Amino acid sequence: MNAAAEIITPSQETQDFLARKHQLLINGEWVDPASQERTDIHDPATEAFLASVPVGGPEEVDRAVAAARAALKGEWSKITTHERSRLIWRLADELEAHLNLATELEVLDNGMPRSIATYAIAAAGINHLRYYAGWATKIHGQTIPVSPGGAQNGETLTYTQREPIGVVGAITPWNAPLPMVVLKLAPCLAAGCTMVLKPAEITPFSALLLGELSRKVGIPPGVFNIVLGHGSEAGAALAAHDDVDKIAFTGSTEVGKIILKQAASNLKKVTLELGGKSPVVVFPDADIERVIPGATRGAFFLQGQNCMAGTRLFVHDDVYDQVVEGVAAMATAFKIGPGLAPDTEMGPLISAAQRDTVMGYVEAGKASEADLVCGGETLSGKGYFMQPTIFGQTTMDMKIAKEEIFGPVLCVQKFGDSDLEAIAAETNKTIYGLSGSVWTRDISVAHKMVNLIDSGQVAINCHAAVDSAIPFGGNRQSGWGREFGQEGLEPYLKTKSTTVMF
Ligand code: NAD
Repeated sequence: MNAAAEIITPSQETQDFLARKHQLLINGEWVDPASQERTDIHDPATEAFLASVPVGGPEEVDRAVAAARAALKGEWSKITTHERSRLIWRLADELEAHLNLATELEVLDNGMPRSIATYAIAAAGINHLRYYAGWATKIHGQTIPVSPGGAQNGETLTYTQREPIGVVGAITPWNAPLPMVVLKLAPCLAAGCTMVLKPAEITPFSALLLGELSRKVGIPPGVFNIVLGHGSEAGAALAAHDDVDKIAFTGSTEVGKIILKQAASNLKKVTLELGGKSPVVVFPDADIERVIPGATRGAFFLQGQNCMAGTRLFVHDDVYDQVVEGVAAMATAFKIGPGLAPDTEMGPLISAAQRDTVMGYVEAGKASEADLVCGGETLSGKGYFMQPTIFGQTTMDMKIAKEEIFGPVLCVQKFGDSDLEAIAAETNKTIYGLSGSVWTRDISVAHKMVNLIDSGQVAINCHAAVDSAIPFGGNRQSGWGREFGQEGLEPYLKTKSTTVMF
């Protein structure tokens, strides 16, 4: 099978963006790092060279952190909350005005289909900025009735203020490059913090576009800084930096644990959005016409390179064959191709290395007792394409069922008339607890299962519901803290209590 390696030319605007000189953003200026090292970025659909970007390191992290610290105490701290709100809203407007450019950069960088990039940038980019623009004017403390030292009513006043936590180091992955940055930047700006961003080294362009737009709308110098570079150097320097107050990290559980050790240097605050291996549980009374597209998209969205992916499908015996056949039919019918092609439903994996890792799991699945229902092969020709792959009759002791694969591989497991505790116990047999869904018409079963599944988000009759107002984050080794919603603002704030004795 060939991925039909059509070459689709992006817009002139996108070509011009790629052709420009790429630099780091420090203190409102585009600058070169000290090192001559550069990273070449390739289109995962065609393997064509897109551009080379500079590699920053600890020296540039130092400069960016100093700029962020100065900005925190400077002009940014004096700007009213209404003005902060307006600036964030203007950034959303600019992103909307450049939606085609942002989409094409995201598609070329990451490989995702154009329709998905546009949707993700609108929902978790533009809308997200506007959602948090609203929060900037609604951050406030409390007044608390107290009687310290035996004081009587009317003799004291205690109030709290919410202050920006300070300089934020944001470290983001490659699987949804622009949303991953905005999920941190929007609450960071709303709270009045400043940021040094270290985006994933292989997907830098949409972050650079955001940097340019932030300058255009008048976000003061030093508030949003971007240091491109390797995780083990620039990322590590940022996580360990003694003048950084908080790290907001999204990435693998493995690197999340390293970040925690690095952050211990000054006990900076840390939020972690990590890996997942989320269950989708289908009861026999579910509306199978809805289950099939829901489970298929839930597993293969973003080529399965999605932390929320429903990669473990638990299906009741009575509907097992129907569901597996339906999901396999839909997955095999996906139009695979370059993300820029308008009809592409599934793009390539991000890199040759990622595809090799995923294929390693596929080989482990083939060597196990699981049934290969469909897929299991790479596509010939240019680009890091592979078939959507489904293994049936899996069990939770199999490597493919336990570990996060981060590719288009779905494991299906059958259950019988066991009690709900036993079914949920199977779903909880991983180190992760990020997302999940339950499909049934029985509201009692649905809510009992929601309570039994140990994940930060469990949906009923849909999978991976995302909205700026819905808190999202992981239990167990899927992370610390939440993004989205009011809860997503909290990690960017600290509380100061003040007591006045009259
Ligand atoms: P990764 O952990 O390899 O890298 C993430 C970021 O960390 C990159 O910017 C990288 O350069 C940096 N990094 C790597 N080593 C570092 C170090 N020693 N010190 C500091 N920074 C370092 O993850 P990835 O492969 O880019 O992304 C895939 C992972 O991200 C998957 O596990 C996926 O589940 C997870 N993810 C989670 C969420 C969520 O919201 N929970 C969202 C998207 C992706």
